[in-house]
Amino acid sequence: MKYLLVLLVVVVGIWLLTNRRRSGEAPPVARKKPKAVEAPPEMVACAHCGMHVPASEALLDAAGRPFCEEAHRLAGPAP
Ligand SMILES: [Zn+2]
Repeated sequence: MKYLLVLLVVVVGIWLLTNRRRSGEAPPVARKKPKAVEAPPEMVACAHCGMHVPASEALLDAAGRPFCEEAHRLAGPAP
């Protein structure tokens, strides 16, 4: 009778562990849902070399022309 009780406890323990694993796997699957596709960033061409950079990263001169880096902003637009 004593061993039957121990066996019952072990079986219930294993059942609880496998149940937790199954419920633990559900959230990652739910998180894999594809997000809404984001619009690509607006690209602007450097006024000096013509390289395209995201508008948010472009450096603007006093006239509002976009540049890819500080050196090109200082050099000014290409002739
Ligand atoms: Zn440039």
